[in-house]
Amino acid sequence: MNNKQQNILIIGAGLCGSLLALRLGQRGFNVSVYEKRPDLRKTNLSAGRSINLAFSDRGNKAMKLVGLEEKVKALCIPMHGRMIHDKNGDTFQSNYSGRKHEYINSVSRNDLNALLLNEAENHENVNFYFNKKCKSVDFQNTTALFQDYDTEKDFVEDADVIIAADGAGSVLRKSYYLDKGFLFSFSQDYLTHGYKELSILPNENGDYLAQKNALHIWPRKNFMLIALPNLDGSFTVTLFLSYDEGNYNFSSLKTEEKVVAFFKEEFPDALLIMPNLASEFFKNPTSPLGTIKCSPWHYKGNTLLMGDAAHAIVPFYGQGMNAAFEDVVVLDAILNKNLEHWEATFKTYQKNRKIDTDAIADLAIDNFHEMKEHVIAPIFQEKRKLEMLLEKKFPTQYHSKYAMVTFNENLDYHVAMIRGRAQDRAIFNLLSSGEIAINHKTTNEDLEKFLEKIKHDTNQ
Ligand code: FAD
Repeated sequence: MNNKQQNILIIGAGLCGSLLALRLGQRGFNVSVYEKRPDLRKTNLSAGRSINLAFSDRGNKAMKLVGLEEKVKALCIPMHGRMIHDKNGDTFQSNYSGRKHEYINSVSRNDLNALLLNEAENHENVNFYFNKKCKSVDFQNTTALFQDYDTEKDFVEDADVIIAADGAGSVLRKSYYLDKGFLFSFSQDYLTHGYKELSILPNENGDYLAQKNALHIWPRKNFMLIALPNLDGSFTVTLFLSYDEGNYNFSSLKTEEKVVAFFKEEFPDALLIMPNLASEFFKNPTSPLGTIKCSPWHYKGNTLLMGDAAHAIVPFYGQGMNAAFEDVVVLDAILNKNLEHWEATFKTYQKNRKIDTDAIADLAIDNFHEMKEHVIAPIFQEKRKLEMLLEKKFPTQYHSKYAMVTFNENLDYHVAMIRGRAQDRAIFNLLSSGEIAINHKTTNEDLEKFLEKIKHDTNQ
């Protein structure tokens, strides 16, 4: 399997597929990538889905692996914390960490994808084919059937290995599922909420109309609005709302008047800077949010699922893309072991990786409730203040769950989940029982005692 002359076929030139192509190209494999959409560097693909994304340390580790850290940094806008907006338009910022160097970044999906495509294409052993939609995969024979949108003709491609990075609606995953002889487990859980993208435009000078270096949240318990900055001075705004439950939902917001009235009541400060709200609301799609888990990810040494195709998650931890990038780092480390054949490689990959992608899927659901609801609860705010103080005072000793997931790129997601949840439970218990409390009189000595208590209760 070390034979670098092998032909690897990747389905999907999205974030995962193009990074994978780049890395396998750097390793010397012959890589062909088939993408159903036109080349995003040449066409204006009006997104409709997550125009920008939160990029953090796990994703950055992958960029370091392929030598792109600095180029990606140039595309990033640091976001140091959550800027929380209440119904009166008052705001407060809750930072992501007490350590200054720990923050997340807003990055354009298109710009990042284009960079990865350009870098991968620089390798003569990597080739991209756009407008080629995969229709099915014969995973026993390692062939894939494509429809060429340019010629309207179907064609079959043969490869030594096929890796599907074709996102949440993966065709390879469907082919596994439809094969009655293959024991394939699959679950898909939708939230009752969907999402819609809107925008805040810059002012006439191109300046930001809200604080640039923050992830803005308007938490309203049963729904929320968020906004991430773009390099051109605009913000991409996303409304997360139930399809049909509650006073306000996507099914009942049928007229421009209703939409504006909803924003006036719930997000008045946002409404003031969203002149295109009414038209965008009806122009842009409402899309579902779901979690996909499945197993196995591979068929022998023939085919493998990666990225969202293997483990689509809801977006509330800002980790779907970061996890898809981390997939490439994990696979790369296994390739370094020079295992006998692809089957052993894929088996080891899934054994190492699935426990972590299952964990981030569950954490992302937890964060849905945290962002729309808990962030406004006084006990939650007290906990975040305490965590901020502990991280400042004991930067090497204390890491919140958020920091473990987002900034500790060498800590497996499942370890971050187990430790983080136990720590959260301990802190909530200590705060609600009054055993620890913070106020303007809290001293460094108090903080030391609190840290010991939290450590003690976490490990019980
Ligand atoms: P995709 O990005 O879906 O790429 C799949 C590619 O395959 C696409 O180019 C597609 O056109 C192509 N394709 C699909 N079917 C076929 C076919 N049949 N034949 C050929 N090609 C095909 N993640 C974060 O880390 N941070 C965030 O802040 C964040 N925010 C998000 C917000 C929203 C609203 C959503 C929906 C997701 C968010 N994510 C975020 C998750 C992130 O978008 C995904 O995890 C990431 O895009 C996964 O990359 P991927 O390459 O596996 O799949």
